[in-house]
Amino acid sequence: MNQQHIHCIVNDCHYWIQGNKCQANEILVSTDEFGSQHLDHIDATMAKQLTPATAGSCMATCCKTYVAKGSKDINADSVKKMS
Ligand code: SF4
Repeated sequence: MNQQHIHCIVNDCHYWIQGNKCQANEILVSTDEFGSQHLDHIDATMAKQLTPATAGSCMATCCKTYVAKGSKDINADSVKKMS
């Protein structure tokens, strides 16, 4: 299986760990527009069903999987935190 390392510097995310690493077992990167229009449960586990879209610049993309540490919505998207 392909080993992928996701580096991230958003340290108030539930999936972020020391060393600037993402411990989510999968993430969804989307356009800002998609991220702002869809609820938390629309995320990486549904990726195959989602329609791709153009962003135009890196500033117009976001991590849809982000969830704040301690949030009550941590399990809303069914993404797992790896140990
Ligand atoms: S889920 Fe997204 S925002 Fe959170 S640590 Fe991973 S890459 Fe960063």
